[in-house]
Amino acid sequence: MRLLLLAPPGAGKGTQAKRLSQYYGIEHISTGDMLRREVAEGTPLGLEAKKYLDRGDLVPDELIREMVSERVTEADPKGGFLLDGYPRNLAQAEEASALARDQGITINGAVYLDVSSEELLRRLMARAGTESRSDDNEETIRHRIEVFENQTRPLADYFRERGLLISVDGEQPVEKVTHDIIDSLAARSEAGSEAGGEVGGEVGGEVAIPSPAPDRPPTDGGSH
Ligand code: ADP
Repeated sequence: MRLLLLAPPGAGKGTQAKRLSQYYGIEHISTGDMLRREVAEGTPLGLEAKKYLDRGDLVPDELIREMVSERVTEADPKGGFLLDGYPRNLAQAEEASALARDQGITINGAVYLDVSSEELLRRLMARAGTESRSDDNEETIRHRIEVFENQTRPLADYFRERGLLISVDGEQPVEKVTHDIIDSLAARSEAGSEAGGEVGGEVGGEVAIPSPAPDRPPTDGGSH
C-alpha cells in the first residue's frame, strides 16, 4: 500500500498516519517529524529549515526533495509507505509524480482529511497549551492554516483529477475517520480489479500517478 496524506494542520494527520501505517504494516514517513529531528540534531538541513518551521512557512522544495526520496526508496520494497505531509504544494505534487514514475511506484490513493478552519483553530489552540512545538502559537497557527489553504488545498483537485482522491470527514471520531479511509481504499481496489486494475493499480508496471482523465467522472472514493 502506497498512500499520501493531505490535511490541514490540526486535522489529525499524525494520528491517522500512525493508525493507517500500523493497519497496513507500512512505513510512516512524516516530513514534519523528519524536519523537527534535523532541527533538534542541529544538522545543516535542520539549521536551514528552522526559520521556515518557526514562521509556519513551507520549507523550500529542494530541501525536502532529497530527504523524502531517500526514505521512499528505502520503504517501497518493504511493502509500501504512507507519506504524511508531502506533497504540500503543486511543485511537490509534480515532483512526487515524477519520483513515482521513475521508480515504477504506484500510488494507491491520496487521503484528504476535511476539517473546517474554525475547528482547526480550536484544536490547535488547545494543543498549544499541552505541547511545546515552536510553531504552535496563535499567529503561526493562523499562518499555517493560510499556507494550507493557498498551497496545499489545491492538491485535492490535482489528485481528484487523477482519480486518486479519498476525501474523508475529519471531524468525526478518530476511529470512524480511520474506518472510512480503509473502507474507501478497499472499495477502490475492488473497483480497480474489476476494471482490470486501472484505478490505483499498475498500468504497464510503470505509471505511478495517472494523468488526468477528463472523460472520467471525478471520484472522491465513492461512498462519501
Ligand atoms: P502540521 O501539518 O501540523 O503543520 P507537520 O508536522 O506536517 O505539521 O509540518 C510542520 C512544518 O514542517 C510545516 O509547517 C512546514 O514548515 C514543514 N514541512 C513539513 N512538510 C513539508 C513539506 N512537504 N514541504 C515544506 N515544508 C514542510
